[in-house]
Amino acid sequence: MVTGISLHDGTTIPQLGFGTYLVPPEETADIVGEAFDVGYRHIDTAQMYGNEEGVGRAIATSGLARDDLYITSKLNNGNHRPDDVRRTFDETMAKLGLEQLDLFLIHWPLPTLYDGDYVSTWKAVAGLVDGGRLRSVGVSNFEPAHLDRIIEETGIVPVVNQIEAHPYFANNAAREASLRHGVVVEAWSPLGQGAALNDRAISKIAEAHGKSVSQVILRWHVQRGDIVFPKTMSRDRMAENFALFDFSLTDEEMRVIDALDRGEQGRVGPHPDVFDYIPG
Ligand code: NDP
Repeated sequence: MVTGISLHDGTTIPQLGFGTYLVPPEETADIVGEAFDVGYRHIDTAQMYGNEEGVGRAIATSGLARDDLYITSKLNNGNHRPDDVRRTFDETMAKLGLEQLDLFLIHWPLPTLYDGDYVSTWKAVAGLVDGGRLRSVGVSNFEPAHLDRIIEETGIVPVVNQIEAHPYFANNAAREASLRHGVVVEAWSPLGQGAALNDRAISKIAEAHGKSVSQVILRWHVQRGDIVFPKTMSRDRMAENFALFDFSLTDEEMRVIDALDRGEQGRVGPHPDVFDYIPG
């Protein structure tokens, strides 16, 4: 049974979901449909992934009640100007076919673009809640200084910060800054895009529990209190990654995995301070 995590705005988010980065647009409806069959109810998509329409089709044909689903999307990097925030949020809603979205995030802070003004972007994203078509607002890839600044200048605290985190890159500074502000952490690339799947120390723990390495890594995230949404194209792996709530890691096993952190060397994605990619 997937647990729910309470967010500071009074809403609840399922701790385990399904990620859709690199799920090809033409296959998304089928893949997300399979994820629903397996039991996933929380889907993470983004304007940048180009697959919101597929997610929308899977929702429309699922037969599931809207209240049973939790859907997140994210603002693309080219859409940070306040007018573009509102215009492209409308496009996102049309593609998803939803009347209300659960969570919308600024995908990247882009401090080297838009004159470094991600505060206006944050105000515009937060303002979407007033229209009633969005329940919660959050950010992604926000470093401690970015978080401090938007909170200080607007008084509006994001409900989540979606950041890269996995055993080889625990991302403790961004994680702890988020938690200090009462912001729940969502760990993106929870499997390190496959990097830690051959790790010997984790394999030993997995053998002791009769579980897979992937399950142990995801369970480590869950016990840290973070939200995860592993991505896979395989139905068997979807089921494997969903079976996390019938075992637990000991404090010592948690410490063994904590100790695998390689700091900056373990990062698989770009650093948010310098990332400036605008999709064409
Ligand atoms: P993950 O850490 O989820 O790893 C995905 C990779 O692991 C795929 O190659 C997949 O292969 C493989 N895999 C999945 N399950 C298993 C398993 N049980 N055993 C072996 N291999 C497995 O990487 P993602 O980058 O996809 O991150 C997850 C989600 O986080 C994304 O889909 C997206 O929603 C979000 N994200 C957000 C970002 C942001 O900037 N906010 C950036 C990156 C991701 P296969 O498909 O072949 O099974």
